[in-house]
Amino acid sequence: MAKNSDRPLKPATRLVVSGHDTTSYYGFVNPPVYHASTVLYPTAEDQVAHRARYQYGRRGTPTTEALEGALAAIEGPNCAAVCLVPSGLNAISTAILSVVSAGDHILVTDSIYRPTRVFCDGTLKRMGVETTYYDPLIGDGIAKLMKANTRAVFVEAPGSQSFEMQDIPAIAAVAHERKARVLMDNTWATPLYYQALDKGVDLSIQAGTKYIGGHSDIMFGTISANADAAPRLKETYHSLGLCAGPDDVFLALRGLRTMGVRLAQHHRNGLAVAQWLAARPEVARVMHPALESDPGYAIWKRDFTGASGLFSIALKPTSEQKVYAFMNALTLFGMGFSWGGFESLVILFDCSEYRTATRWAPGGPTLRFHIGLEDTGDLIADLERGFAAMAAA
Ligand SMILES: *Cc1c(COP(=O)(O)O)cnc(C)c1O
Repeated sequence: MAKNSDRPLKPATRLVVSGHDTTSYYGFVNPPVYHASTVLYPTAEDQVAHRARYQYGRRGTPTTEALEGALAAIEGPNCAAVCLVPSGLNAISTAILSVVSAGDHILVTDSIYRPTRVFCDGTLKRMGVETTYYDPLIGDGIAKLMKANTRAVFVEAPGSQSFEMQDIPAIAAVAHERKARVLMDNTWATPLYYQALDKGVDLSIQAGTKYIGGHSDIMFGTISANADAAPRLKETYHSLGLCAGPDDVFLALRGLRTMGVRLAQHHRNGLAVAQWLAARPEVARVMHPALESDPGYAIWKRDFTGASGLFSIALKPTSEQKVYAFMNALTLFGMGFSWGGFESLVILFDCSEYRTATRWAPGGPTLRFHIGLEDTGDLIADLERGFAAMAAA
């Protein structure tokens, strides 16, 4: 990695220069994609002593090391380990497994990504670990829910679908006092807009499928740990036999190089469309923490340095038929799960089906938007077309 003795490099520069020694590989800018399992040892003595720079494909290649190095540089100085895994959900389950044992208890925000809940209520419960869901707005009130066997507090900000902000430093202070780890799903902001490991988070997770990949063509996940959490994370990761495929690792590294400029554009485009939607008569509320009117704005402003392109709206009460007419009239918004690619998306969702610690009552149908890299004038014209179709339905 490039060094600068005078001052630490800014994130934009680290995204470009980290994770690869450009004097290696004959000077080519990018590391090659190693498709690899077996590593050959030159002599019997070397084989018996496991004496080699690389041991085995699953244990790392120059391609995976390049990406780990680049991610570590972006996570900042508190990052002691990065693990690359096949999906964001796997990053979540592996991080949780690295901090719990049978008989333990964990606290998970009610605003968590839904498949995380499925993992906690299924596999984790079967392993003898109990989960309590808490109100995302709880702050240091989390102290009331801590038990003697609470090993971890899982946070996600903003919340999945509903975008509540959490006071993570306040929660982390309580958790650490009680010797519990703090895990965060940091997919929305990425380390570029939220330096989780500097704000009390021990294990920071990203669905690399989203903004790291950035092109809707890979499944990938990352777990970054501070020095306290790194040894158990690495042990769990290796013992589960995890590794990410070489082509996805390559595409993740390629995506990472442009993540800064893409995110800046998602931020601008997302805010422009959110502001426009907030002024529409059909819209009851926009859930976007970087809007001054949002209840999470003060925390976002204090802790985050940017916003991505994902937010939700609640429509005023209307019929299902009218919502479908709105969605079906859109030509620039695809209807699909996932997000973080270059394209705009919309989905209809309903958190009331599964929240348990809080009541989800937005008052009308709720839509989640991902605002891509298109021209915002075109996107707004498309949404106008949708609202016209809604009125006519
Ligand atoms: C998509 C997503 C995940 C899961 O990522 P996959 O790669 O799809 O498994 C986890 N957390 C959040 C917030 C997500 O949006």
